[in-house]
Amino acid sequence: MKQIIPLFARLRKNFNLLKLLLVIGILPTICAFSLKRPLWQRPLWGFFAHKRINRLAVFTLPPEMFGFYKKNIDYISENAINADQRRYAFKQEAPRHFIDLDNYSDSVRKQLPGYSWKEAVDKVGEDSLYAHGIVPWHINSMKYQLTEAFRKKDVKRILSLSTDIGHYIADAHVPLHTTRNYNGQLSNQIGIHGFWESRLPEMFAENYDFFVGQATYEEFPQKRAWQTVTHANAALDSVLLFEKQLNSQFSEDKKFSFEEVNGVTTRVYSKEFSTKYHQMLKNQVERQMRASVKMIGDFWFTCWVDAGQPDLMPLKKYEPTKEEDEEEKTEKKQWLKRIFEVRKESDN
Ligand SMILES: [Zn+2]
Repeated sequence: MKQIIPLFARLRKNFNLLKLLLVIGILPTICAFSLKRPLWQRPLWGFFAHKRINRLAVFTLPPEMFGFYKKNIDYISENAINADQRRYAFKQEAPRHFIDLDNYSDSVRKQLPGYSWKEAVDKVGEDSLYAHGIVPWHINSMKYQLTEAFRKKDVKRILSLSTDIGHYIADAHVPLHTTRNYNGQLSNQIGIHGFWESRLPEMFAENYDFFVGQATYEEFPQKRAWQTVTHANAALDSVLLFEKQLNSQFSEDKKFSFEEVNGVTTRVYSKEFSTKYHQMLKNQVERQMRASVKMIGDFWFTCWVDAGQPDLMPLKKYEPTKEEDEEEKTEKKQWLKRIFEVRKESDN
């Protein structure tokens, strides 16, 4: 790894300027577009942040990876929500998005980060692990799968795994994905999940600073995944407490208002309430979104390095065939059939 770094440093020196220009050029276009669009044409709640985070992670990559990812940036961004859509079709999917850290005693919680998946199954039991979420182990498992896909130069897998690992990494940064009280249902704050991860980014992300620098090699992916959920969990106190505090200052009709979302009049947290809450959180949502972008870039880069830095230039030519397109569309329709009841994260 050490020999690789000076080479990248030189290549990146010129390349970073180019990327910065791209970001400066592209971001205002995105912003202008989303501001101009009426509410009912905006993406569904909950999807905005995932798409934005995956898209921005592309700009952290070194030149050897950037061309390939840039060419597929729309795929990586638009499909950032696939993992959520699969939750109703596959029983195993839902636990991949969260971990209830408060389900475990202090002593077990301290040991969990050191367990491989197999050790965790032996010590805690598979059923219990699935019941309380497995996001840090799943990120690590995805890391291996993506490395394998790079090794085999399997374009379809590289794209789908890059997209999905981006989703899980972003989820691991959300404080409410690390607790049993995931939607405030245990503290009389129902709806707070969608408030934090959807309403706030939709309202304020246009003003966030998303320039996070270049992707760096991650030597300890599993440790990083655990640090991420532990850190997100440490922010949970303020997420819940500030909303509670504001409740005493806002009557019900001031706390909520009605907006047209996807053609439907929907009750949302009012602009005033959202703005106050956002101020109290002191850039917390921005920090977590930035950290997600950086970590996704780091993991994509690490997988590519661990796979022996395959040349991605020839893969740029890849276009899905008509059959592949059809297959994907059919598969997506299947996902939306609600076979399983899962946590409704974005109740708001
Ligand atoms: Zn999710």
